[in-house]
Amino acid sequence: MEQPPTPVTRSRLFLPMACRRPRRTVVLCFLAAFAITLVLAGRQYWQLHQRELEDRQHNLHLQALAIETVISNGKSQLQFLRSIAERVLIEGQNQPSMRRNDAIELAMLNRRHPVWGLPVPKSDAPVRAIGDEQVTTIEGLGRDHQQLVEDLHLSRAMSQLLPAQFQAGVDLARILFLTTSGIVIAYPPVPDAQLGPILRKLTGSPLMHLNRANSEDLDIDFYPLPGTDFGPLPHLLLSAPVYLNAVMRGALIYDLPQTRLQEYLYQTTESDELHALIDNQGTLIASSTQGFTPHEGNWLNTLPAAPRPLSVPTLFQREHGMVKLEQGYLQYRELEGADLMLANYISAADLRAAVNSQIDTLFLGVWALLGLLMALTLYVVDRLFKGQLHQNLQLREMGLVDGLTQLANRRRLQADFGGLLQRLQDDQPVALWLLDIDRFKQINDNWGHSAGDEVLKHMATLLRALVRPQDLVVRYGGEEFCVLMPETSMEDATRIAEQLRIATAQSICVPDAHTLLANAPSLEIHLTVSIGVAELRSDDCQALDALVATADRRLYSAKKTGRNRVINHD
Ligand code: GH3
Ligand code: MG
Ligand code: MG
Repeated sequence: MEQPPTPVTRSRLFLPMACRRPRRTVVLCFLAAFAITLVLAGRQYWQLHQRELEDRQHNLHLQALAIETVISNGKSQLQFLRSIAERVLIEGQNQPSMRRNDAIELAMLNRRHPVWGLPVPKSDAPVRAIGDEQVTTIEGLGRDHQQLVEDLHLSRAMSQLLPAQFQAGVDLARILFLTTSGIVIAYPPVPDAQLGPILRKLTGSPLMHLNRANSEDLDIDFYPLPGTDFGPLPHLLLSAPVYLNAVMRGALIYDLPQTRLQEYLYQTTESDELHALIDNQGTLIASSTQGFTPHEGNWLNTLPAAPRPLSVPTLFQREHGMVKLEQGYLQYRELEGADLMLANYISAADLRAAVNSQIDTLFLGVWALLGLLMALTLYVVDRLFKGQLHQNLQLREMGLVDGLTQLANRRRLQADFGGLLQRLQDDQPVALWLLDIDRFKQINDNWGHSAGDEVLKHMATLLRALVRPQDLVVRYGGEEFCVLMPETSMEDATRIAEQLRIATAQSICVPDAHTLLANAPSLEIHLTVSIGVAELRSDDCQALDALVATADRRLYSAKKTGRNRVINHD
């Protein structure tokens, strides 16, 4: 039965590859470990960076909550005041007798004066009004006798209530009640000269056009008035309309103190951040800088460039979030119950510094030490490997080299012949000699073994000098040598062998005198060699053994026929 093929797994392929180049594998593994360490460090840094941004967004949220709370407290107090005002109006209408008030009738006599008023006790908020003629110049205002009497009646009550509310209420800059008939009650009071401008400004604003059809908590509006006509600071106005029989009769207004808001932002904002409260046009209402500097137009445009121009309506639509700018980050959160947005700008450099300050030196030291230890280990391992590889190379070479003559040995011959056969083209010849020193035993006997060794070295030197660089000279056995000659014909090989034979016969070996036997016949040794030559193709040999056997046969023949000769045929 046919066996299913064994699946070659990746590890089966990878492991031998890794083992074949252990040094490269170890270096690669260390580099991978380095890279992983670096990636981990980078990831940790990125996480710290993200956490820092989240913390700052959270702080912005808390600040927004505090401002929202102030606004919502103001709203509930305004609702309370408004309900009193509307009840007073209803009562006044239901009980006409109440309107017949001498003080009011007396005050009404002055209604044509540019500014007139209803006398009230000093501790109450003054009730001031503009004249009939002035009323006609302000769009949105109008008065008739009965309405004016009702409004004065209500104003009297409000002048008592406003100071009390001012003291008890949220931190306020001023509390106002304006009627559509041109009466102003302000606490703390405003100069008479300001009455006209205030009425003109606020009557033209959305505050005096509020719709009472909304539910209780929605009809109170927040209106930031940029600082211009009434001083350099913006006014944060909360307003509740007062209605009687579906007709608007006036508005109660809380003027929240911008300076307190400015101070709050300054005190609760990190020094590397810039917080700003802007309205739905991007106008700056308050900021975390120490003093308020008014700014015309969209404040967001003062920030270092965003990828696209920052659109205030888009931010209001998203309600909260973050935008990456060219040199920093903009975090924003819309305030609930007010058309305002709290924004935080932090530069990328400041954020980096904040993140870096969290990385303590111990942590950095550990990372650096880890890197150092890895580098040191890699160095040591690499050195060990280099040494080991060098040693291996030496051992391998020792296994292929003859110790006495430093020529290649038989193992090397076999290996090289295998390689040669693979490279060889069909018609290329390969020649081989087998060379034997004649009567070497006698040399040993007469001059001694050490001298015999010197003769072997002498022979090796001759061989090395006379064969070509591409030929491989091998010490084949005791005093037998073999020469492998790639791409060499029988003819050429025989010719070179002949040259060597003659050169050997003419050469003299002079061993060290102290290596000679005491009774050595001379200080010089003459020697001859016999050589058998064979060629792979012409002698029809398939393998090294056959080639050597052929050469050996011819060498034997050379010995038999008198020695000191080269034979290349059987
Ligand atoms: P022939 O001409 O027939 O080759 O005669 P021969 O004496 O050279 O042949 P034989 O094989 O009888 O002798 C070879 C000698 O070589 C025998 C051995 O002692 C000697 N011999 C082998 N290896 C070494 C060696 O490494 N050093 C020395 N000094 N002698 C060796
Ligand atoms: Mg021999
Ligand atoms: Mg011999």
